[in-house]
Amino acid sequence: MAATVIDGKAFAARVRGQVATHVAALKADHGITPGLAVVLVGEDPASEVYVRSKGKMTLEVGMKSVEHKLDAETAEADLLALIHQLNNDPEIHGILVQLPLPDHLDEDLVINSIDPAKDVDGFHISNVGLLGTGQDSMVPCTPLGCLMMLRDHHGSLSGLNAVVIGRSNIVGKPMAQLLLGDSCTVTIAHSRTKDLPDVVRRADIVVAAVGRAQMVPGDWIKPGATVIDVGINRIEKPEGGTRLVGDVDYDSCAAVAGAITPVPGGVGPMTIACLLANTVTACCRANGLPAPEGLTV
Ligand code: NAD
Repeated sequence: MAATVIDGKAFAARVRGQVATHVAALKADHGITPGLAVVLVGEDPASEVYVRSKGKMTLEVGMKSVEHKLDAETAEADLLALIHQLNNDPEIHGILVQLPLPDHLDEDLVINSIDPAKDVDGFHISNVGLLGTGQDSMVPCTPLGCLMMLRDHHGSLSGLNAVVIGRSNIVGKPMAQLLLGDSCTVTIAHSRTKDLPDVVRRADIVVAAVGRAQMVPGDWIKPGATVIDVGINRIEKPEGGTRLVGDVDYDSCAAVAGAITPVPGGVGPMTIACLLANTVTACCRANGLPAPEGLTV
């Protein structure tokens, strides 16, 4: 039987709709408008596209959007001063520094200078610790989006075997923490894992976050498993031009899996929707209000 295609684009539209409803209620009931500041250093074309699209969607859900574009040679002290100013701005509830940063800037230092309560990317060391110990935190957007799709598809994830391929701080590790929080039995596989195909074959849930085009073939997938493909890779088409593919070989995996996310149109749209969800959560918490249900863990 063909796999159910988990439509991340439609799901993300629903999440943005929920965010817009909460934003409208915050304005009407409390006179508060959630605000998101995005800081871009340098002129990386891919980052510029992401920042533009984040700004557009922030406005579409009724939030305040502020963009700070700094040139590639910006001194670390100037970037830290801007973050300090945003940390103290009561109209800004979320701060995102677009990564990667130019080489002369210390990424860890910059991220850890953001007020953890405004760290809507969830990369601050305090949020990493809070997530790891099961406390309220800002949850990294991409793994949060994956978890929302998994919960929606499965209901309870309790007791399922989950294999996360990739151990990055941005995707793999927080994804594993979230799955553990939902009582999965979690394995984190990585570039040194032995017998990776056998490890993956045991999984009821496979999350691939590697950055290698179509690396996971269908014969690694247990029949009926759910496959979440985080990878975004551009490959050459035989007829010329390029196209985006994930870390799994979609056709062969879809033939065996019970459910699968496509690339594009799977995890990607959920990432921005979860950034907006995190901004509303941060705004509610900053104002002593409960975080909206369904928009965080
Ligand atoms: P990363 O390069 O930081 O980490 C990749 C991980 O894959 C590493 O932990 C490494 O150990 C593992 N790995 C490498 N080769 C391997 C192999 N042969 N076998 C098993 N594991 C291997 O990457 P990242 O930032 O986690 O991103 C992973 C992918 O997800 C990339 O394609 C990236 O573009 C994509 N991504 C997508 C979104 C989204 O919104 N959809 C967000 C973030 C990242």
